[in-house]
Amino acid sequence: MSHNHSDSHCIGIVGHFIDGVIVNDKERTQDIFNPATGEVRGHVALASIATVEQAIASAQAAYPAWRATPPIKRARIMFRLKELLEARANELCELITLEHGKVLNDALGELQRGIENVEYACGIPELLKGEFSKDVGPRIDSWSEFQPLGVTAGITPFNFPAMVPLWMWPMAVACGNTFILKPSERDPSVAMAIAQLALEAGLPPGVLNVVNGDKVAVDTLLTDKRVKAVSFVGSTPIAEYIYATGTAHGKRVQALGGAKNHAIVMPDADMDNAVNALVGAAYGSCGERCMAISVAVAVGDKVADALVAKLSEQINKMQVGTGLNNANDMGPLVTKQHYNKVRGFVDAGVEEGASLVVDGRTLVVQGHENGYFLGPCLFDNVKPGMTIYEEEIFGPVMCVVRVNNMQEGMDLINAHEYGNGTCLFTRDGEAARYFSDNIEVGMVGINVPLPVPVAYHSFGGWKRSLFGDLHAYGPDGVRFYTKRKTITQRWPSSGIREGTQFSFPSNG
Ligand code: NAD
Repeated sequence: MSHNHSDSHCIGIVGHFIDGVIVNDKERTQDIFNPATGEVRGHVALASIATVEQAIASAQAAYPAWRATPPIKRARIMFRLKELLEARANELCELITLEHGKVLNDALGELQRGIENVEYACGIPELLKGEFSKDVGPRIDSWSEFQPLGVTAGITPFNFPAMVPLWMWPMAVACGNTFILKPSERDPSVAMAIAQLALEAGLPPGVLNVVNGDKVAVDTLLTDKRVKAVSFVGSTPIAEYIYATGTAHGKRVQALGGAKNHAIVMPDADMDNAVNALVGAAYGSCGERCMAISVAVAVGDKVADALVAKLSEQINKMQVGTGLNNANDMGPLVTKQHYNKVRGFVDAGVEEGASLVVDGRTLVVQGHENGYFLGPCLFDNVKPGMTIYEEEIFGPVMCVVRVNNMQEGMDLINAHEYGNGTCLFTRDGEAARYFSDNIEVGMVGINVPLPVPVAYHSFGGWKRSLFGDLHAYGPDGVRFYTKRKTITQRWPSSGIREGTQFSFPSNG
């Protein structure tokens, strides 16, 4: 595992991890940047079709022995992996920060959430127990068991380079599948480092392979007959493409997409708590979270005026700089290209008539002039139809929308194309219950701004935030990575002969 203490160390080429070894066959490569400095940190190999096929062949070859390994033995590897992840947390978080840009403490939070998925996978013998019914008919017993699918694959986004892969492959392999991970090409190092830790924990070579790359690698995984299921997390247009292509090739697919998460602030809310919660949820990780709150819906002008004043005050106190310094609240955006995109959204908001109350566009971080830093931005008087309201910005930009009552706010949320997360700030239990009952969103917070389900529940949005039937990780993860088989069994007794029956078997 590479380990750098400065933010200007070159790591060479990040290759692939196939059959337990690092493979690098001088394919196309792409630069990896350190977003805090703008420097090229290294390069990532972009797998050819042949390299991906090599990974699939490795996973296919490892499958029979791994499927036959008792779940308790698979669980023991997960226990060892958890310990290794904890022991190496600082190095892993540094890799996250050097390629993604987020502040180290935030990287640690991400890694911890990933480790919790490994902890859940440690319970696999219990989770795979199945269902049993004795005497479903005369001397007949029946049970359902959950068998692995075979070779499975995951394609992950840049914004949680450690956690999102850990949502997928620990559960997939704990269920007895083998797995091919295709991490984001923008920050691939931490996923590679964790795959090497899995080998160290005892995962046999070939059970987990990592291929780095772009559309070429993804399309090979989506179309190869040997891959039985694909999990995807990323932006909505790509999620929709992955779902359509993967299912057309006969695969089981879950594809999680983008978001535009609204929080409604009611007149009875604890305003100071709501403001603190909103600032963290909107600007933490530079707004590059699919659960980030990007729209604050204020009920009534009095609430809106107070909210905008208090938010501005808090935002102006925020410290922005390199993620290697935990005193900073927010780091840079991930790439120059993404910086330009987010800045373009801010310009569009001004042009379309929203009021830019806090303008982060002029920020310069001393000593990091070439980093991709955009200061926090706050818009007031944002209206449906504006680009900054309709589209996912994925940056440090919060929009305040003014409404007259809670129902108006809920109608806005329900009309939006995305339905990932949402939150209601209130002290009114009746309002909270009405909200959680009737809102068209998959993950709901009541005074909880980032209601990311814990590892033993499941994660997923509604509407165009998720394509597929099952949510990610938790109980749905077990179902996604297994096939139900139902066995009905009778052992004929030598004393009793069954006659021929032509009617449909029943207990009638
Ligand atoms: P992205 O869609 O650009 O990339 C995700 C993955 O898809 C990467 O591995 C990438 O290599 C691959 N990819 C990109 N373009 C492709 C193409 N044309 N064909 C095939 N594969 C392609 O997403 P991103 O920018 O890395 O991540 C940010 C997005 O992810 C945001 O929209 C965010 O909301 C979303 N996200 C969603 C969740 C969720 O749980 N719903 C979680 C995290 C991130």
